[in-house]
Amino acid sequence: MKVPLMDLRAQYLSLQEEINDAVRRVLEGGRYILGPNVEALEEEVADYCGTKYAVGVASGTDALVLSLDALGIGPGDEVITTSYSFFATAEAISRVGARPVFVDIDKDTYNLDVSRIEEKITKHTKAILPVHLFGQMALMDKIMEIAQKHGLVVIEDACQAIGSSYRGRRAGSWGNTGCFSFFPTKNLGGYGDGGMITTNDYELAKRLRRLRAHGSQRKYYNETIGYNSRLDELQAAILRVKLRYLDLWNEARREKAWRYNNLLRGLGLKLPYVVQDTVHVYHLYVVAHRARGEIIHALQHKGVACGIYYPVPLHLQDAYKSLHSNPSLPMAERASEETFAIPLFPEKTESQQDYVVEQLGKILQTLEK
Ligand SMILES: *Cc1c(COP(=O)(O)O)cnc(C)c1O
Repeated sequence: MKVPLMDLRAQYLSLQEEINDAVRRVLEGGRYILGPNVEALEEEVADYCGTKYAVGVASGTDALVLSLDALGIGPGDEVITTSYSFFATAEAISRVGARPVFVDIDKDTYNLDVSRIEEKITKHTKAILPVHLFGQMALMDKIMEIAQKHGLVVIEDACQAIGSSYRGRRAGSWGNTGCFSFFPTKNLGGYGDGGMITTNDYELAKRLRRLRAHGSQRKYYNETIGYNSRLDELQAAILRVKLRYLDLWNEARREKAWRYNNLLRGLGLKLPYVVQDTVHVYHLYVVAHRARGEIIHALQHKGVACGIYYPVPLHLQDAYKSLHSNPSLPMAERASEETFAIPLFPEKTESQQDYVVEQLGKILQTLEK
């Protein structure tokens, strides 16, 4: 049997008519970039996340860059973030001219270790940029407390966590902004690039709208230097269809994760750890083992796809070698050596899951010997 890590085609086929219909209406309507579907999606996402405003942009990366820019972060500033994330998290900080200051992670959740934030704060620190990794939120109450105490802004990288919540509040509704990606593989994915910024701050939303369109509010009258970072109508129309199914899909991910938890317990794998009062949306189901290389190799041989998120922590990336006043961050380094994701997606069948568990069980047994 072959089990892919995810199956985007299966999801499209399950909604084929609705999506084709939405696409056809956009094509026939004649508005293709920023328009009624983008506006409607912005309202729907703001509603969904529990914020007042949402601003559609071209990608999750741009959501981060525009957030930092709109909050006035630039050269000479430091932004505290996790070392264990997709590269775009740190790249966005560098892109606006600021310096990422990497903090180690919690060994169980792989999210920013909140007990290590304050020791990194200097007079240059302007912001904290936590990531809600793999679909589980960082400890936002603690992070907001530290930010308030030190007068810092908070930008949530919620690209992997749409629909997740902590203490009853959704991802993207805690910080000054929340940044989302609609990259095809994300829990809410389009068929191209796309992103969204959520906020409760009216002036900030206004600045973001201006920034995404070349710094202009009125066409051909440019108040600031901006970007070309707009969401298109095709993606927005598709995402509006899919948003209606997001809770169902996230629930299916959770059920499949629980099933894995039960079936994989006691086999010697480190399983996902869920913090109390957290709704995890399992963007990825990530396990860990010292013999990761052997396990992945053997699984792939049996037709089971795996993924490594991420093989190199950010502070060890070539792009950040020059920043090497960085001390070692042992938990992030260890995670990058031992973690791997196994197949989990809403459309995955029980027999696919049983097959993964069976193969994984056999591989782990032979490792024991
Ligand atoms: C996907 C992702 C991004 C970037 O989103 P894009 O839409 O691909 O630009 C940023 N941060 C994290 C944690 C992500 O997973």
